[in-house]
Amino acid sequence: MTERELISRWDGFLDKLELRFEEALQLGEQAVLESLEDNDYNYYASARTLQAIKAQLYEDLVQKISTTWQRQVEPLMRAQGHFWAEESYKGHRQAESMNERIGLWQIVTEGRLSQKYYDHIIPMINRDFFCTQCNALLNVKKNFFMAQYVNCSYCGAINTFEPESKYVAIGWNVVNNIAALNALDEYTIMQRTERGAEYNAAARKYYERYFDERIKLLPHTAATRDQDIELELKKQSQ
Ligand SMILES: [Zn+2]
Repeated sequence: MTERELISRWDGFLDKLELRFEEALQLGEQAVLESLEDNDYNYYASARTLQAIKAQLYEDLVQKISTTWQRQVEPLMRAQGHFWAEESYKGHRQAESMNERIGLWQIVTEGRLSQKYYDHIIPMINRDFFCTQCNALLNVKKNFFMAQYVNCSYCGAINTFEPESKYVAIGWNVVNNIAALNALDEYTIMQRTERGAEYNAAARKYYERYFDERIKLLPHTAATRDQDIELELKKQSQ
């Protein structure tokens, strides 16, 4: 095969992989979102499905570039001359771009999965709770997602409000992932900024947006907003 034929075959391979990759991202997101119905809204099972699909994207598509290059393309090209080096970068660049897109795919898919879960589970607490002693209406804090001790304002009895585990799950990854999705614009700007003063400013903007989005879902975290932001920025600079 001539140099030209080898290059055009390699280009064709990369193009085909690119198409399959974009399609796999879409199908992967769909599979993750639909898994919630299949597993009766088991958030952690769906999160595991997401991780499995992500691993598969790497193995089936990203790694395929380097294995195909090493086993089939490089030996043929090396035999023809020096052009192989530039062709090798082509593969690297595509693999790198796929890795970045898998990172974004994860944020978007986790965010949409979490939003779907949230919308389904949240109505469970949007109902009234009554005192176990006197049956008066209790003032249960909404959007707290943890056990609460609630004083009955009528008879003074202390009631323990123990939310069920599907509801408690919201207070952890679910709210974090929704906040991350809603702060995606700031995240992408941060990712594209070179390290330095400009990056630090972009990182601050991102974490401000992230924690403000999180406060919308977890109002009690407003109290630690500034500390939370500084802590994340400190972690970044290490
Ligand atoms: Zn009472």
